[in-house]
Order: sequence, then C-alpha cells, then structure tokens
Amino acid sequence: MEKSNGQRVILFPLPLQGCINPMLQLANILHSRGFSITVIHTRFNAPKASNHPLFTFLQISDGLSESQIKDDPTSNVMSLIAQINVNAESPFRDCLQTILSQESERVSCLIDDCGWLFTQNVAESLNLPRLVLSTFKATFLNAYPILPRIRTKGYLPVSDSKAEDSVLEFPPLLKRDLPRIFGEDGEKLDPFLEIIVDTTMKSSGLLFMSCEELEKESLNLAKETFKVPVFAIGPFHSYFSASSSSLFRQDETCVHWLDNQEEKSVLYVSLGSVVNIKETEFLEIAWGLSNSKQSFLWVVRPGLVSGAEWIEPLSEELVRSLEEKGKIVKWSPQQEVLAHRAVGGFLTHNGWNSTLESICEGVPMICLPGGWDQMLNARFVSDVWRVGVHLEGQIERREIEKAVRLLMLESEGEKIRERMNVLKDEVGRSVKDGGSSYRSIETLTNHILSL
Ligand code: UDP
Repeated sequence: MEKSNGQRVILFPLPLQGCINPMLQLANILHSRGFSITVIHTRFNAPKASNHPLFTFLQISDGLSESQIKDDPTSNVMSLIAQINVNAESPFRDCLQTILSQESERVSCLIDDCGWLFTQNVAESLNLPRLVLSTFKATFLNAYPILPRIRTKGYLPVSDSKAEDSVLEFPPLLKRDLPRIFGEDGEKLDPFLEIIVDTTMKSSGLLFMSCEELEKESLNLAKETFKVPVFAIGPFHSYFSASSSSLFRQDETCVHWLDNQEEKSVLYVSLGSVVNIKETEFLEIAWGLSNSKQSFLWVVRPGLVSGAEWIEPLSEELVRSLEEKGKIVKWSPQQEVLAHRAVGGFLTHNGWNSTLESICEGVPMICLPGGWDQMLNARFVSDVWRVGVHLEGQIERREIEKAVRLLMLESEGEKIRERMNVLKDEVGRSVKDGGSSYRSIETLTNHILSL
C-alpha cells in the first residue's frame, strides 16, 4: 500500500450483494492509493466490518422492521430499495454531518451507488463533492434517460412476430427483452430514473466497473449523456476479491469437490443474490442438468425458489440422479470457483458482477437473465461478444440440456470458448500496468485529490 495521502473518502453502498462487493473492492483500490476509508452502511445487509480491519464502518438506520427483513427481502427488491431510500435520508445526513465535524483528515468526497436518490442533495448541502458508482454496464446506465420513452413507444406487449426485432433506440436489445426490463408496472420506474439521471449529472464524476475493451463507445457516450468525468477502472475484482464482502457463508467444500473433477468438465450454475424462480422452473433446471449428464456445481440460494426454503421441491429420485454428477450448495466462493481449472461453463443470470467475473476467468456462459440490466448483459454475451449461449428465457429441461451439451461438448462450444479466451486476454490487459483501466485509476486518484 502507498503511504497515507492524508485524505479520507466516504463510501455508501446500496445494501445488495451485487452493490456491496464492488463498493468494498473500490474501498480497497482507493486505500491502496493512500486514502483512508469510511463505509456508511444500513443495518439491512450490513457488511462484516471485521473482514475489513483497515476501514471504519458506521451503521445507520434503514427503518425496516424485523419482519420486513425476515420475509424474503429479495422478493421485491425495487420496493425495498424505494423504502430504504426514504427511511435512510435523515440518518445518513446526521451521520455525514458528524463525520465532517469530527474528522481530523480532509474528507475529499462521498462515493455512493447510483441507486441512492437522496445523497447528491445531502452532499451538496454539506459542500461535499459526490462521485457516483454505477454497478451496471455503461450501456445500461446510458439508457436511463430514454427508458421511459422506450416503454411508452408502443413496443409492449411484444407480439411473437416482433420478438426478434432490435430495439433501435437501445441496441443490442431485442424487443423480447423489454417485458423483463419494465416488469408489470414499469411506469413506477420513471421518477426514479429521472432522479438518478439528474443527480448523476450534478455529481463530480461517474465510475464504472468496466473498461474500454468492453464498451469504449458506451463510455464515451456516458461522458456526453451525464456531462461529468467518467472513470472506467476495470472489473474491480481483478484487483481485490469479493469474497471478504460476502453476506452469506460460503461453502468451501465445493472447491475441494472441484479439485477432484476433470479439467473444464464442470458447469457452474448460479443465479446470483436476488433472482427468484418458480418451483416449476427450478424443477426444469434440475431435470435439464440431470439429463445433460454433465458434472455441475449448483448454487441454490435459500429463497431462490419462491415458496420453498431450499431444495425440498426436488423428489428423492431427482436428488439421487443429481448427486451422480453434481453438487448443490447454498452459496459458493464464486470468484474462486470460476477460476478453478475444473470449471468449463457458467449458467448465469448475467448480473454485471457475475458476467465480468466469468469473462475475467475465460469461462463461457449460458445466459438466463432474470430482468433489468441482466437482459442487456446477456445480449452482449450471446450476440455481441458471442461468448455464450442464450436460453431466450426458455426454462425447459430439453432446452437446458441442449445448451449445456452444446457448450460443454460440441465444437460450437469450443468456438465460443476460443472467443472467450480472446476477450479474457483483452480485458486482462486493461487492468495491468499501463492498460486503460489501470491508467483510469491514476486519473481517478488525481481527480479525487483535486476536488
Ligand atoms: N456470488 C458469490 N457466491 C455465489 C453467488 C454469487 O460470491 O454463490 C457473488 C458473485 O461473485 C458476485 C455477486 O455475488 O460478485 C453477485 O453479483 P451480480 O451482479 O452478479 O448479481 P446480483 O446478485 O446483484 O443479481
């Protein structure tokens, strides 16, 4: 680590695994550049402070009741985030005010998630510069100003004959992707999007966990759209692992299990920390994996299957058949798993973290996006970079079996793997000394010091 530069940065992650991981990785990146770090966080999904002894953690109230936290909070993430956005404003203001009045070091800025709606106003009122972290691909954040227009344009509902058409305003999205971006009451999103665009434009800079090698044009467009300095500092996990910020206990036995598997023989299956699926879909995935006769490591997060605790919808017969070739765990050390020599494919929901982690380890994907930005990430994986197979939402045992066998056994899968290796190398170069992301960290550091 460089010696302290006498300046402190305050970070405030949105309380979701996919947002906490990058924020704490960013904390490590900035700390390695000499900044002291304070992390403000909600009680809900509080990160484990003891895993990060070099940082100061301050908890604020999120106003959620015990029962709200216990009743599967991932069942409606949007409403949960909306509630916390109301409840946490005043505690956040108090906390920030206290830090600014007590801190002996100079506090350079606040960096928080683009999903916080009140932080720009609070920071401005306290004369503290604010930088925004997007945990989405730049292409997706760039679309925020036009999403309401796309929603009302008359594309929805999408007829079968139009499903394959491109969304001209938002390439490479297809019209069939739109219903899962907007959900059932997409109009409720409009005010959030408007605030996010407005507050980002008022900020002192925008950070992406991305790089020029993946989306140079979108990064340039982000500068035009938001009219603030943009920093694409690379897949953050390339610098610091996400494992220390895991909210769930990671089952390490899966790594020992992988040690005994053949090279590139295992399909890793995980739908991230938020996606929910129906019991029927769960069973189709289970049969598809079993019928594929390929080895697999499957993360079934408690709460993944709506209405079930864990894997009890599986019959004894199905469990026996699954156990012949696979292992099911509740949560894995994903980065380590993807880096393991035995892993040859990833059936994923295409969260941006998971997508980047897969690219960095050169693991080709089977795309099963659940909604929102995952729809776009999956299109990039399957249609633009061509490093994965898209299930096109067909959670059906034969389709899953076909995709698994194509990726793991067939020559088409081999071609996908070759393209993935090229992409992995390109992205890998960006985070090395002299690469585009590496240089962007330098620029970001100087920018923060100049604020
Ligand atoms: N993850 C993990 N273990 C698992 C599943 C996921 O550590 O069993 C991590 C994964 O490495 C990634 C994060 O959880 O960093 C999920 O973020 P992502 O953006 O992919 O999806 P989200 O959970 O936000 O939908």
